[in-house]
Amino acid sequence: MSEPVAKSIAKPLPKPAPESVPYWQAAAQHRLELPQCDSCEKHWHPPSRSCPHCLSDKFRWSQVSGRGKVFSFVIYDRVYHPAFATEVPYVVGLVDLEEGPRILSNIIGIPPEQVRCELKVQVVFDDVTPDVSVPKFKPA
Ligand SMILES: [Zn+2]
Repeated sequence: MSEPVAKSIAKPLPKPAPESVPYWQAAAQHRLELPQCDSCEKHWHPPSRSCPHCLSDKFRWSQVSGRGKVFSFVIYDRVYHPAFATEVPYVVGLVDLEEGPRILSNIIGIPPEQVRCELKVQVVFDDVTPDVSVPKFKPA
């Protein structure tokens, strides 16, 4: 007698706060966009209503390079959500973008044991549904 086939379980999708809706809209079109201050010109992440550098509330959304370096990372070997059962081990990393902000995402396209701090990476977009793409990073 065969084992019952497990139903596929959907991964949780991002639930954008109002401040981060433009971030996810850009990601769906495979662009990495961050708030950029009209006063001091710095970018920041995660999105918020005012610049964390100078507190100005005047900003625009601008596309960034998607290039950066791994600041730190962890390898997940344990299944914390059933939808990820076939994905362990996977890497969650902090990437320092060339423009300055630090972004949390997955490091993909490389065996987890080969990921290192300072590894140069480039954004890629994982189309998880027809409407949602998640920015992730692979070796540059
Ligand atoms: Zn500013």
